[in-house]
Amino acid sequence: MVTGSAPNRPKKPRWSGGRYPPKRRVCFFCRDKVESIDYKDAARFGRYVNERAKIEPRRRTGTCARHQRMLARAIKRARHLALLPIIPEHVRLGIAVGAAAPIAEAEAAKLKPVAVPQAPAEPTSDEKTD
Ligand SMILES: [Zn+2]
Repeated sequence: MVTGSAPNRPKKPRWSGGRYPPKRRVCFFCRDKVESIDYKDAARFGRYVNERAKIEPRRRTGTCARHQRMLARAIKRARHLALLPIIPEHVRLGIAVGAAAPIAEAEAAKLKPVAVPQAPAEPTSDEKTD
């Protein structure tokens, strides 16, 4: 008997009922030719944070390694500025969860009297004349 080889083994299906069905996924950021992910765009990448305020894994979203790294950094920065939830409690209270939070801002304000800092305005210094 030869060990270490299985010549007549039937081909296994690619997916055996696990959590993540195989699906051809395209990195949204690659598709849109995104070169850098801005932490101020919390509304855009809010959907990469699940209801437990965790960053969705790559295997689920299809994001490529490069963009996943950028995304993770942007999400962490956005959290620091309270643009995204950090703990599930924040989600429950309706703190801005990117695009997934159509809850009236007044409602959210009533629930939590914490001011969500506005993203700093871009300095408009197109023309500099000294
Ligand atoms: Zn990508």
